[in-house]
Amino acid sequence: MVSSPTTGAVILVVEDNDANLMLARAILERAGFQVGSARSAEEAKQELQRMTPDLIVMDIDLPGQDGLSLTRELKAMAHTATIPIVALTAHAMRGDHERALAAGCDGYVSKPFKARQLLDAITSALPSST
Ligand code: MN
Repeated sequence: MVSSPTTGAVILVVEDNDANLMLARAILERAGFQVGSARSAEEAKQELQRMTPDLIVMDIDLPGQDGLSLTRELKAMAHTATIPIVALTAHAMRGDHERALAAGCDGYVSKPFKARQLLDAITSALPSST
């Protein structure tokens, strides 16, 4: 494993689809990140009371409260406002990227995604990157 400034950073993945969650976890762990996961907005908020990740990967299409609504909520709360959020958007949904950025997301990746696309978006959004 090549060391990088982001190695060891903690990422919370919020994704209700098991296949996408497992894929994201595998990619991020292989890249040296510590990974937490949540399958709904409620689970994400519970996790965020226990830990403060360096970045959140946020599926937009979640059951119950959706990822855009959760993003707006997190960006409005003092203890989570500065955490970068990378949205996972559905490729077929026109306008998803614009809606993600308007909600406060710091980047986005279209599903289905490949490792390089996810890692590039995360590296760009992490504050330690230049
Ligand atoms: Mn989903």
